[in-house]
Amino acid sequence: MFFQEPPRLPNTYRSDVVLHEYLERLLPPEVRAEVEPELDRMGEAAAGELRLLAEQAEQSPPRLVQYDPWGRRVDRIEVSPAWSELHAVQARAGLSALPYEDRHGSHDRVVQHALLHLYGPSSAVYSCPVAMTDAAARVLVDHAPAELRERVVPRLTSRDPGRAWTSGQWMTERQGGSDVGGTATVARHDHAGVWRLHGVKWFTSATTADCALVLARPEGAPEGSRGLGLFLVERIDPGSGRTQLGSTILVNRLKDKLGTRALPTAELTLAGAAATPVGGADGGLKKIAGMLSVTRLHNAVSSAAGMRRGLELATAYARVRQAFGRRLVDLPLHGATLAGLAVEAEAAFALVSRGMELQGRLEHGVAGEPEQRALRALVPTVKLLTAKDAVAHASEVVEAFGGAGYVEDTGIPRLLRDAQVLPIWEGTTNVLSLDLLRAESRERAVTALLEDLAGHLAVVRAAPAAGVDLVERSHAALLERVRAWPDTDGDALQEQMRDFAFRLGRTYAAALLAHHAAHRRARHADDRAAGVARRYAERWLGGSASPALLTEARR
Ligand SMILES: Cc1cc2nc3c(=O)[nH]c(=O)nc-3n(C[C@H](O)[C@H](O)[C@H](O)COP(=O)(O)OP(=O)(O)OC[C@H]3O[C@@H](n4cnc5c(N)ncnc54)[C@H](O)[C@@H]3O)c2cc1C
Repeated sequence: MFFQEPPRLPNTYRSDVVLHEYLERLLPPEVRAEVEPELDRMGEAAAGELRLLAEQAEQSPPRLVQYDPWGRRVDRIEVSPAWSELHAVQARAGLSALPYEDRHGSHDRVVQHALLHLYGPSSAVYSCPVAMTDAAARVLVDHAPAELRERVVPRLTSRDPGRAWTSGQWMTERQGGSDVGGTATVARHDHAGVWRLHGVKWFTSATTADCALVLARPEGAPEGSRGLGLFLVERIDPGSGRTQLGSTILVNRLKDKLGTRALPTAELTLAGAAATPVGGADGGLKKIAGMLSVTRLHNAVSSAAGMRRGLELATAYARVRQAFGRRLVDLPLHGATLAGLAVEAEAAFALVSRGMELQGRLEHGVAGEPEQRALRALVPTVKLLTAKDAVAHASEVVEAFGGAGYVEDTGIPRLLRDAQVLPIWEGTTNVLSLDLLRAESRERAVTALLEDLAGHLAVVRAAPAAGVDLVERSHAALLERVRAWPDTDGDALQEQMRDFAFRLGRTYAAALLAHHAAHRRARHADDRAAGVARRYAERWLGGSASPALLTEARR
């Protein structure tokens, strides 16, 4: 009787050639040597115990207990022990602490990226609370008064699982997630001078968090986004020492979601929740800009990491599954399909690596003004492109498993369900595409990103590879389009922006791949990355891939 062998994952650090190559290029040797043992441990856990924890957490989704046995409102969200253990693992690894510890200077974010890349796909989306916690630390470091900062940031950045806090972010309301200017939650002083929030928050993820950053409108403040303030709400009211759940924070229900099933996402009523303004009760929208940069980068990390995981699983399966007398991996068309998946996963990884590299440089004060502006446009571009690619990629991975890919207990459908949230939260594709217009008009950030792109092409020019001409042509066309923006009618311009954003992301990714390929060729006489760069440019910027190229990309 025939039984199919399941695909087995090796240590996901050791098996990830792309991750190794990028760390070799982006980190000084001493930093790499220092972090290698941690990465190796995380790669081992990701293939083993973390994967099991993630499965257990998915099988025991969070449960809302609204009342205690005696009828008191408690609004307790119960999570599985596995979910709590996933918290402990990320805390010990310092996944949200790393950028604030200054262990590796401006390379902190690159190291964090590598660890998240390994942890995320085996975390049942615990990567979401990690992202929001990191982002809350960023906002408090940048904007909070000393008392709040010194009390909360050490909790958010603790490596001790018992002390480490997580943070949520409560922005979306029933009337709008993209258009936060419509926020109806009101902030009011009580008789003791404490700010209290009143309103309904429609999506709040990681609702078991110890605190959350919340947008609310101080009473009497102007309408629209100008009048918003940013507040920190703590689960335990620091004034009374009592939990706010069940009294001033009511959990109306948990969302029944397509994916991210281990992650609690709730609808909340704020019924006078005690809150602390983050650096004054105004300018909320400006303050969340830094938060959104961090969570959007985390989102892109998850997209690229999910693509890598899908590729690994599909490849592992293709090595043990036979059809027409050959292993799937040896069937020319299936092999080409896998090669295509590898190319897309590497492009996403290259984009995210660049984003995290620049974010680290910004946070350590070594990014020049052009790099800061380039990052402003890079973040929405990287988030929107990698998220959409992650969904398409996961769909192809499901198909690469045939019928097994559609069956829940193989774990494969989860890849697709969990990918589908990536283009929605932290800003939808359209909202981020339009954000590029704002970034250009306020900071000429798109122009700066195109200049940065030209810098990567300049590195390649010494030894031009096939496909680079396509990148150059696309770069020139993008510059022309940006120059025409001031003369284009507003609505017509908005209509074009999605197409522009994708083109910008693809061209920038192609330039990054070409840069990396030039490095591999010059330093290591290795052409693997050149094949990937060429195939990506030919697929997205014109032309079609040659069979020789497919073989190169599959190596
Ligand atoms: C699983 C999950 C967890 C979430 N967790 C949180 C959380 O923890 N905290 C939180 O605050 N939010 C959270 N959200 C909410 C999420 O951020 C919002 O759903 C998202 O921002 C979109 O807002 P919306 O749902 O109101 O859609 P809308 O804003 O109504 O958008 C609907 C559609 O219209 C498009 N659109 C909107 N404006 C424009 C425009 N100007 N031009 C062109 N197209 C436009 C959008 O792209 C989208 O396709 C979560 C969502 C999900 C699915």
